Amino acid sequence: MHFGSSEFSSLDIFVENKSNRERRLRMGNCKECEIWDVCHGGCMGHAKFLTGDIYESDKEFCYLLSGVIKTCMSKGYNPPKRHRA
Ligand code: SF4
Repeated sequence: MHFGSSEFSSLDIFVENKSNRERRLRMGNCKECEIWDVCHGGCMGHAKFLTGDIYESDKEFCYLLSGVIKTCMSKGYNPPKRHRA
């Protein structure tokens, strides 16, 4: 699918891009999201497919996951929080 793209050309580059993407999303599109710890902006490859930009959130995943999680939260489920150092 997108594995020929330079953003995914090696594991080191992938990990660096993923980390940079998460930092940007946490300051932008996903800033106020209460389910960040579950989603992390969705799939980087799918975001590239949809928008041409790995630094965008995965808007289809966002729509689907946030709907599912918010429905579960309304029924008493609390998504796990990751420990942050
Ligand atoms: S659900 Fe949407 S806003 Fe929340 S972290 Fe995922 S992509 Fe970002």
